[in-house]
Amino acid sequence: MSAIINPDENNYRDTITTVEKDGSRKWIFAKKPKGWFYNARTITSIFYLLVFFGLPFLQYEGEPLFMLNVVERKFIIFGLHFGVQDLIVFGLAMLTFVVFVVLFTVVFGRLFCGWACPQTIFMEMVFRKIEYWIDGDAQQQRNLRNSAWTTLKIRKRLLKHFLFFLVSFAISNTFLAYIIGMPALKKIITEPITVHILGFFAIVIFTFVFYAVYAFFREQICIVACPYGRLQGVMLDKKSILVAYDYVRGEPRGKMSKEKLESTPPKALHEDGSNCTGKCDNCTKIHEPVLVAEPAVKEMGDCIDCKACVLVCPTGIDIRNGTQLECINCTACIDACDDIMVKIHKPKGLIRYTSEDMIVNKKKAGITPRIIAYSAVLLILIGILSFTFMSHSLLDASILRTPGQFYQEHPDGTISNLYNFKVANKRNKPMEIHFVLRNANGKIELIGHEKIEVPVGGEKQGQLFIRIPLRSIHEKKSSLEVDIFDGNELITTSKTTFMAPVN
Ligand code: SF4
Ligand code: SF4
Repeated sequence: MSAIINPDENNYRDTITTVEKDGSRKWIFAKKPKGWFYNARTITSIFYLLVFFGLPFLQYEGEPLFMLNVVERKFIIFGLHFGVQDLIVFGLAMLTFVVFVVLFTVVFGRLFCGWACPQTIFMEMVFRKIEYWIDGDAQQQRNLRNSAWTTLKIRKRLLKHFLFFLVSFAISNTFLAYIIGMPALKKIITEPITVHILGFFAIVIFTFVFYAVYAFFREQICIVACPYGRLQGVMLDKKSILVAYDYVRGEPRGKMSKEKLESTPPKALHEDGSNCTGKCDNCTKIHEPVLVAEPAVKEMGDCIDCKACVLVCPTGIDIRNGTQLECINCTACIDACDDIMVKIHKPKGLIRYTSEDMIVNKKKAGITPRIIAYSAVLLILIGILSFTFMSHSLLDASILRTPGQFYQEHPDGTISNLYNFKVANKRNKPMEIHFVLRNANGKIELIGHEKIEVPVGGEKQGQLFIRIPLRSIHEKKSSLEVDIFDGNELITTSKTTFMAPVN
């Protein structure tokens, strides 16, 4: 965006906001936001946290509903098992995800960062709320940090970091549950440490990592570590919707003195432009009075340079300098500025969700053809991915004639062909597989197997003979269908061919 307030480009910062001139870290004390967006984000976060902490407890037929066991390469997504043999599904999912992220960002900017990113939700909606509760708002936090180590400060620090550690411990356990499943996590927690030494260290390491991130590293994750954040610069354009300051309306900014504010009481107008006294019939019969600015105030821009938007920013930036890589679109500055606008009797939305294009051309935010087109593509992608997951087979099975092997003739008048079979179990229970010829009168002989048992997420390979009487074969190469059963349940039918000495 080109909303540069400081016209001298050479003076514009070339460092991130959280670094002092001497290179040291600048600690951000963000003022507690309040307003419609903050409330909406709080509600969204509660839902998100319930899902995050609750999902690992949900089970389906004795297995986790959701598990991403990268260690054993065993993945369960909504009860469906995926393994290494499902690389195509994962590849497609990754591709869809990347396209989705790019398209989504081009249209809606960093909406994800502000509303759904786990880092933002935990930092702003959990850890920072704890901090506000114990240390107070920004100025109190600043005072406490600069004060001497009194009993009160020690008590507050101990309590805050104890709670931070406790929440980090809960996140760590939940995170591990997503990887190994809740039953395995329960064993680590309830059985002696010596039995699960690796699991124990995993919990400890995760806990310290989360604690370090939320207690100390904080907004630096979004600013310097997150690859998605770093990509914003190449994905956003002038039509992207993001949290932005309307510099056309806001500039030239200027302080509004108390006297000036008091001497310019709000004026109400009717829709036809006539003055409203607050007592005329029009107020009640036609419409609510509309507050507009007085001409004296109007010659300036609407921004009164109060810096309320800067004070609430968790990454320490001034949104009036345009779109910056540190902005996580958390909406705190929208709430802060709306609050000011109400107080000085100006319309809300000086900072709002909008695009550079809309600001320059004074267009209202709305559904544009571009948003419709991109959203349609996003929906199609979600549809493809959902279909891929739903059509995911519970069994991967193949029976193929062994390459390089011909048929064998037997004294009893039968012909046999050698086959390779492979079965992968994607169900949430062990399988006991057997094969039945569907369209031929013959029998199947397993080689080296009494029965084929495939554990959950496991795979079995082997060889078998199919033997058919020559008299019932009428073609040199005939088609065969083999039913594959798990116990008495028909899972799938595999197609192959059968060779015989028929002219
Ligand atoms: S400028 Fe700061 S407060 Fe405003 S949305 Fe971006 S990160 Fe949040
Ligand atoms: S809160 Fe609004 S009025 Fe105050 S400095 Fe920020 S943009 Fe200007």
